[in-house]
Amino acid sequence: MISNYYKNKLKGGIMAEKIYEKDQYQNEFTANIIDITTEEGKYHVKLDKTYFYPEGGGQPSDQGKINGLNVEHVYKKDGNIFHVLDEKPTKIKDIKCNIDWQRRYDFMQQHTGQHLLSAVLKNEYDLNTVGFSLSESNLRIDLDKQLSFQQLKQIEEKTNQYIYKAINVEILYPDQTALKELNLRKEPAVDQNIRVIKIGNIDFSPCGGTHLKNTAELGMIKIIDVENYKGGVRLEFVCGKRALKDYDLKNEICLQLRDILSVPEEEILKEVKRYQRVINTHKDRLSTLEKELMGYKAEALKKSAERVNKILVVKKLWTEFSYDNVQVVANILCNQANIICIFAHKQKETARLLIARSDNVKAIDANEVINEPLKCIKGRGGGNKLKAQGGGSQVDNILDAFDLAYQMIKEQL
Ligand SMILES: [Zn+2]
Repeated sequence: MISNYYKNKLKGGIMAEKIYEKDQYQNEFTANIIDITTEEGKYHVKLDKTYFYPEGGGQPSDQGKINGLNVEHVYKKDGNIFHVLDEKPTKIKDIKCNIDWQRRYDFMQQHTGQHLLSAVLKNEYDLNTVGFSLSESNLRIDLDKQLSFQQLKQIEEKTNQYIYKAINVEILYPDQTALKELNLRKEPAVDQNIRVIKIGNIDFSPCGGTHLKNTAELGMIKIIDVENYKGGVRLEFVCGKRALKDYDLKNEICLQLRDILSVPEEEILKEVKRYQRVINTHKDRLSTLEKELMGYKAEALKKSAERVNKILVVKKLWTEFSYDNVQVVANILCNQANIICIFAHKQKETARLLIARSDNVKAIDANEVINEPLKCIKGRGGGNKLKAQGGGSQVDNILDAFDLAYQMIKEQL
């Protein structure tokens, strides 16, 4: 229960003080709960002051604990900040609050890195950041124009040099006159109490998010992917500990490849390309040999086939070769006179039926015959008078389909 004392204070229009905007490094604090509302089984808690960052400006919300209870999400609504909890807090006054610092600091690194990178892009090549996205696993910006590979390398180099220089990142609250003096990188989203993030003399950007105190805390920035996007480009990058984690992963892959391929790291790519060429050569050879083998298979099948009214009925259930090969055999046989093929092909999840005939076996319409047998395997397909095929999911019934096709053809010949 919320005490009347706090309810009355609330009626007086008290709002949570956004102290996270002033001290971004505070991850533990004590506060009072001033209201709790229930929505869809969750408890939306208002505090008299909070260091929890509510989702906004492209930065995800903080998580953490309020009186030991999990804070899943924090959001802003009508000037209030709500902390979403799974359980209802029983204590109201002097509540201990903890912010998940690993998560918050990661967002601070990525977000500050974005300011710095966007500033260098603007200052060096007049490229505007028109999109920004930050999540637990992804950080990217969209630029309004294209840039070359050389320019990108230069940008990355310059951004990292600003990190080495350990430049202070400050928060300014300029009045309207001072604001006009500042060379803002973008227009502010609000018109009052404008908060400007200043990185030395490199960048002045209005922003309500959480940032580092100094560029040195970024460690490093690495652009990891680039793609063309809406006439400009989309850059994916990593900062701080994420960059280290990314390096760790790529180093692990490199070391394993080095051991598997038994070549020094710098020759891995060359070696993989060599393997690719070898595999392609083998694939071509295998395909030629398979075609040859299918010729022999066709002849062998002919020898053991049954003759019905002068027509050779060649039937086989295939399990070991690809369906492409089965089609090759059907083509080889049906290019000769007086042959009809009934082939079934069975794999783990798909069963196929193929009916094909020589041009002169006019008594059979393959497209007409195939419909009923296909029903046995819940299959669909079609073709023409000479050749029809289809596949279905009832793999275990393929023999029924096969037998039915054989009976139907035998009766029609
Ligand atoms: Zn920001």
